[in-house]
Amino acid sequence: MRTMTCRQLGGPCDLEHHGETADDVLKAQDRHLKEADRAGDTSHQEAREAMKGRWRHPKRSLGWYRDTKAAFSRLPED
Ligand SMILES: [Zn+2]
Repeated sequence: MRTMTCRQLGGPCDLEHHGETADDVLKAQDRHLKEADRAGDTSHQEAREAMKGRWRHPKRSLGWYRDTKAAFSRLPED
């Protein structure tokens, strides 16, 4: 397992996501952004919009996705 924070994934807080793969933490972050949005937390709005944009334009977001996966693989295992 590795740990990435909301901030490392483009968000504003230090909440930690744990996962076996980069996809796991990305999904956890997506969920976290949705929940923050639903709770009326405006500090996460920008990150939420950015994430939505990435799902909508997967090709354009490949670079970001690759960078995130690379960053994840460089992290120490928990
Ligand atoms: Zn957050």
